[in-house]
Amino acid sequence: MMLTEFVALAITVVIVCESSVNDPRLFETTDTTNNAQDYTSLTAEDFENAKNLTREQKYGTLKGKGMENSNMFEGDIANPGLNSATIYDFMGQKHPNDPIVAIPTSAIMNRYYRWPANIIPYTIATNFTATERAIIADALSDMMIKTCYKFVGRTNEIDYVNIVKRGGCSSPVGKRGKSQDLSLGNGCVYIDIIQHEMMHAIGLFHEQSRADRDQYVEVLSQNIQNGKLHDFNKYGLDFIDHLGQPYDYYSIMHYEGTAFTKSGAETIRPVASARAKGIKLERRTEMSPIDIKKLNIMAGCPNFVAASG
Ligand SMILES: [Zn+2]
Repeated sequence: MMLTEFVALAITVVIVCESSVNDPRLFETTDTTNNAQDYTSLTAEDFENAKNLTREQKYGTLKGKGMENSNMFEGDIANPGLNSATIYDFMGQKHPNDPIVAIPTSAIMNRYYRWPANIIPYTIATNFTATERAIIADALSDMMIKTCYKFVGRTNEIDYVNIVKRGGCSSPVGKRGKSQDLSLGNGCVYIDIIQHEMMHAIGLFHEQSRADRDQYVEVLSQNIQNGKLHDFNKYGLDFIDHLGQPYDYYSIMHYEGTAFTKSGAETIRPVASARAKGIKLERRTEMSPIDIKKLNIMAGCPNFVAASG
């Protein structure tokens, strides 16, 4: 099936605060000296093996708790020093009240954080199993079919994503410069989680961070683990440009209904009018049509048509 063509949005490319490029906090690089892991790239065999995966291998049976790392911003965002107090600075503003800069739907507009030519060089640690490699190959292959991003095994590129198996699932948001780890620990090597983390690496934040989210979801703070309310922050209306894309309950970048629950009860849910339509916040196993649109808008190919479907 072809993706429905839509009107290309006039994306105003704003030169965002060039001085932020020189902010040393944004240049913290991952320390790779303590890695016992060796690195390689995916092979043609991995991509071939991807075609024979079972549904359970690709998606497991778990209810996606892997992305809730207690020590990371919003559970799985791994930019050092990034928190709800530093987010505006990170996004290119010194203060939330500064003049508007164009930030597309929870995404980083600052060109420095984007991947040139939409090519994302990567390495992958050698301690993933053959099945895990095939699942990762399948996730990346699906993204390459549906978007104009390309993942290429790193040769000598300076900036690249280093896929590693550590505790939990995490990635920094956007291209950070030099090596940046995308962790797929136990319970993380599933298609949707791999794509979620890679979408962070490409530059997307969580869907429920949108400025207008209160029209669409309710945060049930009484059910959230102590100290985790900040993981449900939204970004100010003066700060986010939604690029004409509607709120997306079906995004793989949206929290599930029980994210950071302390008792199993819901922590975030659609507003009553949406619940009446049967909308639920459940684990999404595939990128939504809007996820795909957003990626292609960010990549500068808004009318991209999937290679196959
Ligand atoms: Zn995330």
